[in-house]
Amino acid sequence: MSDSDELKVLNPATEEVLATVPAATAEDVDAAVVRAVRAQQGWAALAPADRARLLRRFADTVDAHLEELARLEVSEAGHTLGNARWEAGNARDLLEYAAGGIERLLGKQIPVPGGWNITFQEPLGVVGVIAPWNFPMPIAAWGSFPALAAGNAVVLKPAETTPLTALRLAELALAAGLPEHLFQVLPGRGHITGRALVDHPDVAKIVFTGSTRTGREIMERCARLVKPVTLELGGKSPNIVFADADLSTALDPFSFLDNSGQDCCARTRILVQQTALDEARDFLADALAAVVVGDPADEKTQMGPLISAAQRERVRSYVPDGVPALRGSAPDGPGFWFPPTVLTGERHDSRAAREEIFGPVAVLLPFTDERDAIRLANDTPYGLSGSVWTRDLGRALRVSGGVRAGNLSVNSHSSVRYWTPFGGYKQSGLGRELGPDALTAFTETKNVFISTEGPAQ
Ligand code: NAD
Repeated sequence: MSDSDELKVLNPATEEVLATVPAATAEDVDAAVVRAVRAQQGWAALAPADRARLLRRFADTVDAHLEELARLEVSEAGHTLGNARWEAGNARDLLEYAAGGIERLLGKQIPVPGGWNITFQEPLGVVGVIAPWNFPMPIAAWGSFPALAAGNAVVLKPAETTPLTALRLAELALAAGLPEHLFQVLPGRGHITGRALVDHPDVAKIVFTGSTRTGREIMERCARLVKPVTLELGGKSPNIVFADADLSTALDPFSFLDNSGQDCCARTRILVQQTALDEARDFLADALAAVVVGDPADEKTQMGPLISAAQRERVRSYVPDGVPALRGSAPDGPGFWFPPTVLTGERHDSRAAREEIFGPVAVLLPFTDERDAIRLANDTPYGLSGSVWTRDLGRALRVSGGVRAGNLSVNSHSSVRYWTPFGGYKQSGLGRELGPDALTAFTETKNVFISTEGPAQ
């Protein structure tokens, strides 16, 4: 992408230009942070119940615009309508949940000699949120809404290709009565707008979701200012299927095809116990052939396009002509299409089995026993997510204990729930979002000791 000051937003299913959005400069970031500092002071001074009420109003406003937000996500990100409706609902639900935490953001009274000791959870100030293009609306929400609830202001930089839902959310926040400049959205380029946020001395924390490469750079730059970061990075998650599992649910192809595989939690390493491998291959061949790929705005569509031509080229590089694979179909013509694919001739150490592809491509690999399954699952620099499928409860617990990843599910492919903590081990990230401690991640703990000693009365 060039350094021009406009972002062209394309519909990835048609390649038509949807909108042209100005890209924020470093000076724009400076001005936004000055405004945010002032807005945060007023916000933190409000009574907790008033802040909670305003966030609930924001949730109601999002709810009233659910279909509009969903359709915007379909057109700028190519998500299926069903997924996009879930995503808009997730933003609403998280606002409600975060609002509920405001009046319960408790400190501690700690027994000490010679006085009383109390801790306070104080807001950080201005939080910078940098979001990727794969789930533009939910990821913007996960970083921003708990931060607002904890008494902070937020400056959000959406991805270059998908700024529209974030901009609309900021408009809805204002319409709901949130103070001006409390939640600002600055579309722009990573190395200009994003970097200016990261380097800004008055931005107290960065929440970054994106690639491990960019996350590493952001962490290095934050280190210079000793600025805290939450990093939600890449993944190469295993789907561990024992021979006693129900293969038809364990091998649900949407465990890696959801959002066209552009999902950090996609189960792209399908590890199947050797004795069930042939059956798994036959099942997947039929399942891929049945996937409906096409116009994401059509209610019947199950998988839409990739986000861009560049992403399609990247994905294609993992599937050279003639490679052994099971394949579904994809439309011809305009749009960034790629068929659902399972590579069947890979080794554990091949490029496709080790690197995050971020497209509708998984590898099918065998394992022998429980110990082998855990060893292979952990043989990756990533540790975000994964599934374990077996009817043996003891084995499910042992394998869940052995796999080094932040979000595991047993006999399920779910990963993200706003009630529970989300984040990665190893190079999949640092810190956690969502869950009961989501607000605390946006606070400093202040300890105050009050002496009760004095002249004897
Ligand atoms: P990316 O790292 O290229 O970009 C992410 C965001 O960072 C964008 O807004 C971009 O403009 C910005 N950015 C880029 N360079 C920057 C810099 N030098 N300084 C500051 N900001 C900068 O990632 P992407 O391609 O947009 O997203 C795909 C990646 O995101 C995948 O690796 C995926 O696994 C990861 N992801 C992780 C999670 C998670 O929760 N762990 C969730 C979704 C996506």
